Amino acid sequence: MASHTLSPFPDELLAAKKQIRERARSYGLDFFPVIFEMCDYEQMNQIAAYGGFPQRYPHWRFGAEYEGIRKRHHYGLGRIYEMVINNDPCYAYLQESNQLVDQKLVIAHVYGHADFFKNNLWFSQTNRKMMDEMANHATHVRKHIEKHGQDVVERWMDVCLSIEHLIDPHSMFMQRGPNDTPHEQPKRQESQVQRFKTKDYLDRWVNPPKALEAEAKKLKSERDKMRHATPSRPTRDVLLYLLEHARLEDWQADCLGIVREESYYYAPQGMTKVMNEGWASFWHSTLMTKHFVEAKEVIDYADHHSGTVHMPPGNFNPYKVGIELFRDIEDRWNKGKFGKEYEEADTLGEKKKWDKGLGLGREKIFEVRRVYNDVSFIDEFMTPEFIEKHKFYQYGRDPHTGQLRIISRDPQRIKQTLLYQLTNMGQPFIYVVDGNYANRGELYLAHKHNGLDIEIKFAVETLKNIYKVWQRPVHLQAKIDDDMILFSFSGDQPKQQTIHDDLPKPAHQI
Ligand SMILES: [Zn+2]
Repeated sequence: MASHTLSPFPDELLAAKKQIRERARSYGLDFFPVIFEMCDYEQMNQIAAYGGFPQRYPHWRFGAEYEGIRKRHHYGLGRIYEMVINNDPCYAYLQESNQLVDQKLVIAHVYGHADFFKNNLWFSQTNRKMMDEMANHATHVRKHIEKHGQDVVERWMDVCLSIEHLIDPHSMFMQRGPNDTPHEQPKRQESQVQRFKTKDYLDRWVNPPKALEAEAKKLKSERDKMRHATPSRPTRDVLLYLLEHARLEDWQADCLGIVREESYYYAPQGMTKVMNEGWASFWHSTLMTKHFVEAKEVIDYADHHSGTVHMPPGNFNPYKVGIELFRDIEDRWNKGKFGKEYEEADTLGEKKKWDKGLGLGREKIFEVRRVYNDVSFIDEFMTPEFIEKHKFYQYGRDPHTGQLRIISRDPQRIKQTLLYQLTNMGQPFIYVVDGNYANRGELYLAHKHNGLDIEIKFAVETLKNIYKVWQRPVHLQAKIDDDMILFSFSGDQPKQQTIHDDLPKPAHQI
């Protein structure tokens, strides 16, 4: 697909880009070089469908994504505004039909994202050469398709993608014991037996068949030993566990490894959506308002900026929540509205007027963008005053009239709901707790209850897909309505039962 010829960059825009970049630096933003590419409407849609990368492995979901984007665009329900890739250098795409004021806005916005990618802690372990790596993945998958056929490989990729969220983004930062496997999974090649490179006629002397055979046998028995190993403690990186212990063909393991690696690459973006969009919007708005909007453009700018950050009641817009939180933090730290003395101020009036003239706001927001993720950001900085000021209430539809109405103004409840949605990107926490359950080589998973029950449909679907990888019975333990339930799947009908004392216990509990 997009081995496209991109349009040249017009001079006027090139000059604007340089100015915006230098201005952004003068405010302390710090980023990898950013390469902007001009695309037409079709190219923009294509690249967007591929998650911003010109080269991805072949899979039907990218086609489906492309159709979705085109339809949304066609019916005017959404608009691709900006696309920027975490890589060194960063890549960003500009749609050539946009007006100049829009392009400037997007450029300023992109520098905000580029700074966030480089400096936010959660991105520190991501692969900064992902452009190359994605192209690499594409080559691998194409090779497997050539050998095993499109249908077989695509069906397998479907299975892998259906469980792509079963990773542990925190594991990137863990100090590991000597028995743990590091995060990077070396790619499995078609044959794991080492052959010494040699000229053909020498081959049978340097790699005598008997020795190769013995070596292959040894490898297989080592792998068989690994197969039923139970993790030394519950592990959330289910994909790694499967890679190491499931009965997979080499090409299958390679595909699963690719899906896992891409999942780790995207995870920090999912964990910082509010902050990252908030930060980029904070900077596009600061830079544009102060420096880059000419008088004749003001109306367009205001219009387009408010398009990005507008939030109708009942909708959660990460741009809007993020930008307002950063502004609020800056204001509070400028005025010293934090700490014990402030919290204990007697009256609302006193709190409102509070201003110690500390001027610490800018420094504080840079620190926040470095160390927080969405969950800790909202947990710590979304105050009741903030919710009240911006009317971030909980809305729902009235079942009789169909009208939107406020369900709750309770700041605790509103914040908690938001945190539930954002924790683990809305995905349940699933652990491998036993790889040889009841000594039968069955896989036992457990759902960690964080206040919300797992959806039964999700539990069953996940089990069915993991069964395709494990090829032995699989179980998932989950608390539903205060009962401990065991969901099981062994290839026919899914079963569920309340966990009772007669059932064998798994190796670990969570
Ligand atoms: Zn953005």
